[in-house]
Amino acid sequence: MNTAVELDWGTTYQVTVLDLGLACCGVEVMAALNGSDLAGYGIDPAGGPDRAQVLVVSGTITDVMLPAILATYRELPEPKYVLSVGACSNTGGPYWDSYAVTKGIDQLLPVHVAVPGCPPRPEALLEGMVALHKLVRS
Ligand code: SF4
Repeated sequence: MNTAVELDWGTTYQVTVLDLGLACCGVEVMAALNGSDLAGYGIDPAGGPDRAQVLVVSGTITDVMLPAILATYRELPEPKYVLSVGACSNTGGPYWDSYAVTKGIDQLLPVHVAVPGCPPRPEALLEGMVALHKLVRS
């Protein structure tokens, strides 16, 4: 990413995200949101679902969690966006053949950006956030 893109990102719009961390990828997102410089890119953790523009779903999704995920998603005000982070959230990942695992959160929610990886590299996560930021602003 070049400096112009970074400046544009940081000065034009602030995006609030709620992380639904369900397994290892959730830890990566938590670290990115709370310990890194994502705030400098205009991305801030939301105080709650009612203040979030973006729902980040990260980690292994077990079927038993689906009602809680859906209930959280419904609390976000419109317009709302979904960022799926990691192989588990995208497709079921290494647990795709488990009877208890959902094979991708896109079966339940409209996913706007999906970040690949197990877990995704920090650069991939940032790229996904940048793509989503552009979408929110458009
Ligand atoms: S994609 Fe890999 S790192 Fe991420 S939650 Fe699944 S097993 Fe863990």
